[in-house]
Amino acid sequence: MKQPDFKSCQFCGSKVLKFRWQVFSNRTKHLRVDCEKCGRCLGYAPQTEEFLGRLIGVRTGHLPEI
Ligand SMILES: [Zn+2]
Repeated sequence: MKQPDFKSCQFCGSKVLKFRWQVFSNRTKHLRVDCEKCGRCLGYAPQTEEFLGRLIGVRTGHLPEI
């Protein structure tokens, strides 16, 4: 299976992706990526500066407190 690069949707090719936090039941935070166009979940991106900077409603350089 091809590893998603979280730059475009591997299903429909759209480059409009939504990045947001998802908290699992064990309270760990994961950076979930969904396609804005087809609505599919692309998976969980590594929590690097590059992807954290694309989070919705979050300023870069700070991890939001939950
Ligand atoms: Zn898509």
